[in-house]
Amino acid sequence: MKEYLNLFNDWVRLEESEWVPNDKVWQFVYYFLCVQFLGLSPTLLPIWMLVMEYFAEEVNAFLFGSDFAQNWTVCCLGAVTVSLYWINGLSWLAWDFLSPTWCKKKYLVQPKRVITSKVVWKVSKNLIVNQILTVIPLCLFYDVIFMQQNRGLRIEDVAKLPSYFRVVKEVLLITVFEIIIFTLGHLLLHTRMFYRMHKVHHELKQPFALAAAYSHPFENVISNFLPFSAPAMLFRVHPYSQLIMAFVAVMGTQLHHSGWDLPWYKFMEQPDFHDKHHEFFTVNIGVTGLFDWYMGTGVESRNKPMTWRKSIISPLITDNQGMMKMKLK
Ligand SMILES: [Zn+2]
Ligand SMILES: [Zn+2]
Repeated sequence: MKEYLNLFNDWVRLEESEWVPNDKVWQFVYYFLCVQFLGLSPTLLPIWMLVMEYFAEEVNAFLFGSDFAQNWTVCCLGAVTVSLYWINGLSWLAWDFLSPTWCKKKYLVQPKRVITSKVVWKVSKNLIVNQILTVIPLCLFYDVIFMQQNRGLRIEDVAKLPSYFRVVKEVLLITVFEIIIFTLGHLLLHTRMFYRMHKVHHELKQPFALAAAYSHPFENVISNFLPFSAPAMLFRVHPYSQLIMAFVAVMGTQLHHSGWDLPWYKFMEQPDFHDKHHEFFTVNIGVTGLFDWYMGTGVESRNKPMTWRKSIISPLITDNQGMMKMKLK
């Protein structure tokens, strides 16, 4: 197993090969993917792109260059990720509150969505508790068990920025595994045994960006933290690639929960796709639509006849109604 992983690492780290076109082409691919993943979010994306384009060396040196960062790399990444979550989430919230009514009517997936300050306060308290109970201990765990034993992210590479080619390869690799782990974890959370925890996240039938990680601490670990951190540690990516991945994960999930059907963004049918999951509970379990299309659990198949694939998945998925009946007994 270890040998296979090493082979994989070597391939991922390979900076040059005969078929690699020049870095400008990969720079274009990198920005193309950023826009696809993040959907030109009207908030942080343009600023982030400018900063990462012109100050990448400085960001890399500031975050990973010090002695402290060499020992506590994941904690540094965690601090940036949590800060980004709040900055991007609050700027989405400003947009939620300040946008004109005609805009809400036209572009909200659920035009009658209401966000009260009471809900925002409840969500904020949940986020802070989860960050203290799960994010801080897990970052410390990664640093002590992996990073300080010369495993995990490849901190020895930070002296040099990775090429666009390497960032694209590493981010795509983590994204594929993130989607697989998230989908399986989400399916698990919808089973009768675990839905008790997942129903916290499903309290919000009308999601908004800041509430993307509103969840039970167990779900925060399984669904939010592990899917994008475990593959990065396993495949030993460059810390800078993981920084980009953190932006993709945070801004991606907030976009998927934003409730805004942005006219210029139709990639993977988001945020409509995940919004429908919050509205109807038992559909759209995956991220890209591929899993639900294949298994027949997409929102469009709700009133269609049962297929053999759907008959495997459907009995596993409990719904809110089922939980309510259980409570009444
Ligand atoms: Zn959700
Ligand atoms: Zn769910």
